[in-house]
Amino acid sequence: MTISTTISNYIGGSFVPARSGEWGENLNPATAEVINRFPRSGAEDVSAAVDAAEQALVGEFGEWGAERRAVLLEAVATAIESRLHEFARAESQDTGKPVSLAARMDIPRACENFRFFAGAIRHQSTDCHTTGPMGGGALNYTLRRPVGIAGLITPWNLPLYLLSWKVAPALAMGNAVIAKPSELSPTTAALLAEVFEDVGVPRGVFNLVFGFGPEVGQALVEHPRVGLISFTGGTQTGKQVAVSAAPHFKKVSLELGGKNPTVVFADADFNAAVETAVRAAFTNQGEICLCGSRILIEASLYDRFEAAFVERVRGLTVGDPAEEETELGALISLAHREKVEAFVQLARDEGGRVLCGGGRPCLEGKLAKGAFLEPTVIGGLASTCRAATEEIFGPVVTLHSFTTEEEALKKANGVRYGLSASVWTRDLNRAHRFSARLETGMVWVNTWLLRDLRVPFGGTKDSGVGREGGRNSLEFYSESRNVCVKL
Ligand code: NAP
Repeated sequence: MTISTTISNYIGGSFVPARSGEWGENLNPATAEVINRFPRSGAEDVSAAVDAAEQALVGEFGEWGAERRAVLLEAVATAIESRLHEFARAESQDTGKPVSLAARMDIPRACENFRFFAGAIRHQSTDCHTTGPMGGGALNYTLRRPVGIAGLITPWNLPLYLLSWKVAPALAMGNAVIAKPSELSPTTAALLAEVFEDVGVPRGVFNLVFGFGPEVGQALVEHPRVGLISFTGGTQTGKQVAVSAAPHFKKVSLELGGKNPTVVFADADFNAAVETAVRAAFTNQGEICLCGSRILIEASLYDRFEAAFVERVRGLTVGDPAEEETELGALISLAHREKVEAFVQLARDEGGRVLCGGGRPCLEGKLAKGAFLEPTVIGGLASTCRAATEEIFGPVVTLHSFTTEEEALKKANGVRYGLSASVWTRDLNRAHRFSARLETGMVWVNTWLLRDLRVPFGGTKDSGVGREGGRNSLEFYSESRNVCVKL
């Protein structure tokens, strides 16, 4: 098979192959065709990137003030925007997601991330405390200094969206970065390196190393001169990252998996709840950590909700990610589809009824070998069984009923994850009461995935450690230092 393009690491301002000379292949999951090859990097490449990043920090970038960094981030946003369709196509080909989704959500959000943190750093302020009487006491003020080198590790589901969510605040706070994207979705990161080169980023400020997690990701986490790791990915990998980073006392942020409940009370706006629950379950083929993959419905509404929900899901268009009208594209890989299918089988074994989907759609031509799966709705499962409590990360949702608010809460909290929840009710008191008792980092009431970049983002329990977003990101990507001046 011909490999049309070769992508490179970006280290110290140069586009270079892996030191080993080895490559990996990047496949389009909708067609099983090879898109390009990427450097199979390892510890030597990480060391080279660390050297380059250190040089950058003692060079001109280390002297840049907030305004100059903000201008750089804005230039990056504008440059991505001018290539929006190229970025969207690349994201769609790497991941199988509809190109319309990439053009509407992934790439615009990446631009927004760069612009948002340009604004945030311009408006950032720090604390000042006066101690004792003025004239005889002390003045304390807090400096926020860059941590140094930030290691950024990202997954395949929202490649540029999540990479930019880390790169932008890390650079805003004056760090140099080494990013390691998922080997399954390297292309938009490679395009981002071109953008950084075009806007004239100083050498070594933005570095990119491609390759496999256990080889290059692990080396980045273990490198003693990388002071901070921001990781988004699976809970199991996150655990390993935490263990490897701990002996070095690195700053670590872990954004991990989810099994998020959509809780629908009988007094909810019915049409809005159905429509949004469908979107929450199946956007990006269900491959978003925030997807509402289990729906808890008040018993008096259950039959009506199930019927309307299933009818709506049957109408979703699965097909060619390149077509505008496609609503669900391919899953990330054939291996991942097998994993998701195994969960559908498990659900059947656990007593579940497949209410719609569950099979592979019949697609022809070049799509026949793609990793497609029908959107799948499963009813009749106990809320405690494996299919209803483990993260599937695909187009599969389970429906459950409850009779009291207490029971809804117990079911919503009855998983090891604690990322987000979406609650549907017209009762304002209940909305506040219920939100306060949910064991999740984020709650949406009568909506889903309505994001304000200033708010804390992250999960509890097995969904992760730490919060990013707005001020939280600026604090995470910096060290605070108190200066006490005796007056
Ligand atoms: P993953 O397998 O955990 O991989 C995430 C990243 O970690 C990839 O770049 C991966 O590299 C790398 N990696 C693997 N082993 C590593 C190691 N030993 N040391 C350092 N890095 C290593 O996750 P995924 O399958 O890509 O993504 C899906 C998961 O991400 C789901 O669980 C989803 O819920 C979660 N997620 C969470 C959030 C959130 O904000 N909470 C957002 C999006 C996704 P390679 O893949 O290239 O080998």
